[in-house]
Amino acid sequence: MRQLGRQAGSALTQTRTVPAPDDLRLELIGVPAGADVPLEVRFEAVSEGVLVTGTAIAPLAGECARCLAPLTSSVTVGFQELYLYAESRHDKHDKHDDQEEQDAGELYHLDGDLLDLEPAFRDAVVLALPMSPLCREDCPGLCVECGVRLADAGPEHRHDAAVDPRWAALQQLSEQGNDKHQDRRAGAIDLQEG
Ligand SMILES: [Zn+2]
Ligand SMILES: [Zn+2]
Repeated sequence: MRQLGRQAGSALTQTRTVPAPDDLRLELIGVPAGADVPLEVRFEAVSEGVLVTGTAIAPLAGECARCLAPLTSSVTVGFQELYLYAESRHDKHDKHDDQEEQDAGELYHLDGDLLDLEPAFRDAVVLALPMSPLCREDCPGLCVECGVRLADAGPEHRHDAAVDPRWAALQQLSEQGNDKHQDRRAGAIDLQEG
């Protein structure tokens, strides 16, 4: 940051590789902590602070939402944030306001000559993470009857038993009822007839 003067309009572009921060993941996929993240950042001095425009390539690791196979990929994210000079913070706000701003994630401040890119990077990546990552676009998922991964088992995989799996569960229920519990039997018979 020291190379960047406060003269509005002066700009600086840097390329570097940073380690990914911890806890950057959704349920099924995320960025492995410490993984290399190539980053290109442009710093631009404006009157109230520094405008930061970044592009990062985040490596991803997780599992397929359909077949649960491990998968790796990457996502390219862009972010842009204005980091305010510290003095503009102290002129206008008390500490309480600062905390609220941090919570809202709206305003970033320069810490001396340093700025923290992690929150901006984190926000951009979380938005870009897929809710349902797939090992491949047309992943056929798991067999509903035996749980085998259909991509491995091949298109011929099937079970000849004619019972629809939704009815198989009811059949099981009625068998249990017959064997063990008199009071369950009535319910099981009702289900079969309905
Ligand atoms: Zn899959
Ligand atoms: Zn099967």
